Amino acid sequence: MSGYIIEKSGLQEGDMERINAFTRRKFAESEVYSFSLVLCDNEVDRDFDRFSLAALQQMQALFVGKTCIFDHERKSANQTARIFHTEIQTESRQTEWGEPYTKLVARAYLPITEKSKDMVTAIESGILKEVSVSCAVKSSRCSVCEKNTCSHRKGESYQGKLCHQIFEEITDAYECSFVAVPAQRAAGVTKQFAFEEVRNMQEILKQIQTGEAFLAEKETVQKLAAYVKELEEKAQWGEEYKADLSRQIMKYSALVQPEMPRAVLEKAIEQMSVQDLKTMAAAYGKMAEKILPIQPQLWRGANQPEKQQDNEFKI
Ligand SMILES: [Zn+2]
Repeated sequence: MSGYIIEKSGLQEGDMERINAFTRRKFAESEVYSFSLVLCDNEVDRDFDRFSLAALQQMQALFVGKTCIFDHERKSANQTARIFHTEIQTESRQTEWGEPYTKLVARAYLPITEKSKDMVTAIESGILKEVSVSCAVKSSRCSVCEKNTCSHRKGESYQGKLCHQIFEEITDAYECSFVAVPAQRAAGVTKQFAFEEVRNMQEILKQIQTGEAFLAEKETVQKLAAYVKELEEKAQWGEEYKADLSRQIMKYSALVQPEMPRAVLEKAIEQMSVQDLKTMAAAYGKMAEKILPIQPQLWRGANQPEKQQDNEFKI
């Protein structure tokens, strides 16, 4: 479910005071353009996510004062609008999930200037219609089992019940962004997760891989890039550690089971997990020590060239 612009809204009582709370100088009513928009609601969106009523209320407070920008690009102040009022509106109809249909409606303004003229035209003509919001989701639960983490898959049905993610705690609201129609698939609610939790980072990676996520905040992308780099480094260490263990096993094997063909052992090692390699290296080490107590001057560290190490125990 995408948010959308409702209409040019006539200013209501108290709105100029609300607007002027955000401006450097006092603006007159004739100097501002204002419009209403639905930021989000409690229906399941196209990514199979849904805001809980509590989350909508948190968003109501968080979105006051936030900016609406064009396609997530930070442009000059003249091309952004600011949300000066938010309210929760409830309709009499029920959602499929047994809640009263509830939406978060905002009013936003932009100063009428030569530069903002195009934006006003775009809104009024309906070119700018959809909006997407981004916020930090701290906790969510599964609609099927109510747990925070589980193996149910979003979008699939379990005994006739559609699995979706319910956002429960929103810790920050970043911005609202106009999306020009015809809407791209990414239009709608854009989720940006709190970065403290690695689980969320994995979720983001998953969403990028499946094309669900639309990440445009420079800071977000940079954090993600740093995280991926860290993972790559860790993977590198893991590979090196694995190679070390393999070398040790080959070396001990030459001593404890000299009849074992090298190629056979190499093939077996290739398919072993790090944990198994570790156990095997330790066991072979003990066996080797019984046969030939390892003398310190013969012991070479794992970072020695492989050829030299192999020579140590050549029989
Ligand atoms: Zn579940």
